[in-house]
Amino acid sequence: MSTVKPRKIRSTTSKDTGEATPPLIPGVSKPTLDKLTKLGISTPLDLILHLPLRYEDETHLYPIKHAPLNQTVLVEGTIIRADIKYRPKRTLICQVEDASGVLFIRFLNFYGSQVQSLSPGVKVRLLGEIRYGFFGLEMVHPKCRTLKEDTPLAECLTPIYPTTAGLSQTILNKLIKRTLSTIDLTDSLPEAIFSPLGLSGFAESVTYLHQPPPDASQHHLTEKTHPAWRRIKFDELLAQQLSMRLHYNKRHSQKAPRLKNPGQLKQQLLDTLPFSLTKAQQRVEKEISRDLNKAHPMQRLLQGDVGSGKTIVAALAAMQTIESGFQAAIMAPTEILAEQHYRKLSGWLEPIGISVAWLTASLPKKDKTAALQRVSDGSAQLAVGTHALFQEQVSFNKLGLAIIDEQHRFGVHQRLALRMKGMAEGAASKSQPHQLMMSATPIPRTLSMSYYADLDVSVIDKLPPGRSPVITKLVADSRRDEIIERIRQACLTGKQAYWVCPLIEESEKLQLQTALDTYQTISQTFPELKVGLVHGRMPNLEKSAMMAEFQSGNVQLLVATTVIEVGVDVPNASLMVIEHAERMGLSQLHQLRGRVGRGTSQSACILLYQSPLSDTARMRLKIIYENTDGFEISRQDLQLRGPGEFLGARQSGVPMLRFANLDQDSDLLEAARTTAELMLKEHKPAAESHLQRWLNNKEDYLKV
Ligand code: ADP
Ligand code: MG
Repeated sequence: MSTVKPRKIRSTTSKDTGEATPPLIPGVSKPTLDKLTKLGISTPLDLILHLPLRYEDETHLYPIKHAPLNQTVLVEGTIIRADIKYRPKRTLICQVEDASGVLFIRFLNFYGSQVQSLSPGVKVRLLGEIRYGFFGLEMVHPKCRTLKEDTPLAECLTPIYPTTAGLSQTILNKLIKRTLSTIDLTDSLPEAIFSPLGLSGFAESVTYLHQPPPDASQHHLTEKTHPAWRRIKFDELLAQQLSMRLHYNKRHSQKAPRLKNPGQLKQQLLDTLPFSLTKAQQRVEKEISRDLNKAHPMQRLLQGDVGSGKTIVAALAAMQTIESGFQAAIMAPTEILAEQHYRKLSGWLEPIGISVAWLTASLPKKDKTAALQRVSDGSAQLAVGTHALFQEQVSFNKLGLAIIDEQHRFGVHQRLALRMKGMAEGAASKSQPHQLMMSATPIPRTLSMSYYADLDVSVIDKLPPGRSPVITKLVADSRRDEIIERIRQACLTGKQAYWVCPLIEESEKLQLQTALDTYQTISQTFPELKVGLVHGRMPNLEKSAMMAEFQSGNVQLLVATTVIEVGVDVPNASLMVIEHAERMGLSQLHQLRGRVGRGTSQSACILLYQSPLSDTARMRLKIIYENTDGFEISRQDLQLRGPGEFLGARQSGVPMLRFANLDQDSDLLEAARTTAELMLKEHKPAAESHLQRWLNNKEDYLKV
């Protein structure tokens, strides 16, 4: 066997020195090593955790005559004839006999060497399905082994592994078997931890999965419900929980300004509002307020469905910050939303003497310089803006709280950048600002318990009173004319409507063209109405002017791309038509629909679709039609798409779960959560060795 030169394997290269570590899987040739890398295997432990997809049973021999039909069975016998037939296709046909009967085996693709080895008198062992064929009992393309003397039967089920071209099951099998007998499989968990959960030991579990005994339930193994699988999934979830928990604890050891809560500014703000807070808003406001008053940085995710009233809660948190002598910042992912926040917040706050600065990339130079100056000298107490807020030239005087709206729209790095601002430049040196992240894309419970376990979560679970749910209609595009009439009538009686253009994901240029075309058609269709247009490529000034026109009621029908998807709040707009709704994702549809139903009048959202619908599109439309609760929609979306796509920006920073399935293994997730806490308190070394085993060098992945 060739020796392997040390080679660099990315995941195991020391970050500090860049030097390669010795070969991690000894005795393997370079080409094989490369193929293993393709499978994500670079260490012996990776090999051990490369678990079978399914199994074949070669532990039990059937007599030919009594073997069950149409299921994989193992038989053995002597070849009594072998012929090559040329019609209708070149075929090798052998007749095999055992004490009970005769079986024909057929091969369509075969080599000369095969023909030679399968000559009369040779004993063979065959694995395959027996069927009734033209000649009687037959097996097509069996897995065929010629037998020397008495070859013993397999002692365990034969694992079939996921693999890649050029890497045979035999090689994988051999490598894994060898590794199993040499690797240290000492349990990372004390028995007192896993036993009460009904789980077996680690060594026992992996050995079982690679080498199950003949009587193992193949069903439970392939469905991954077998106790051995549950142990592996638990371990994976536990590693995730431990690392999230450690991260959480680390944050709690960092410093942040303690923001006191005399409550006067808050009261002043509340007094000017035309409404009072809902119970849910009051509850989350208290949760946030308590965190701000602590000496370590808050990282709280405020979740609330579209329209649940997160903005006022954020404003109240800003009041606490400002009253304690610090600055607050609110960052939004789009200009439209940022500007809307700016208008709303300055409307609320300037009357009570708070100075608000407005910062976006598109500001005229003079205004920008002035805004930057006010932010850095501290005369602006609240800064509202887009990504521009965390760019280099911005320096805060004393940032105490960073609020990030629609957090899922931002990448990990952008959020980090805003936090660093407060750290590097704040007067309270070395201390970090508190962070409040807001999201209207509700994260299903299992997701927030796993991938978001490092954050604290507050949920506004009730909408403000007086909202009647939006009526959703699914209408085939062929009935477009009826819809047009309906919109016309509604707008003529003083209502306002959005007309959402089809989504063109492939190309921005086409998207723009579609928006322009739609605008033109709609303007011609409704000559008696004032029709406006907003789209992503529009200069920001024009965009905000148009939004203002719509807000004031001058424009009755607003043709828009999905730029209006997040946050836009125009209570008088009560109708929405979405063209080609079948092209949009569930959360997008839910967000768009959330733009209506914000005032007191009955609202409707009409989803125009083009037939025929694909299965997933039909599924999505059904879900959005049947549900109004964002959490339920998210839950079903998670089921439909899996967590990968769901996590968006977070995904890039977090290793995905390989074995556990959040939906099916929620009980294990609960158990992992409580176990992680217990272990960090009472079994610190075990926690460390568990993380070492499962995360190897990857434990510092979480930066937010
Ligand atoms: P979102 O959670 O989607 O960001 P907003 O903060 O934009 O929601 O609030 C939606 C609308 O509801 C706004 O017009 C806001 O002023 C209003 N609102 C917020 N809280 C209440 C409340 N307690 N009672 C009545 N209206 C409220
Ligand atoms: Mg909002």
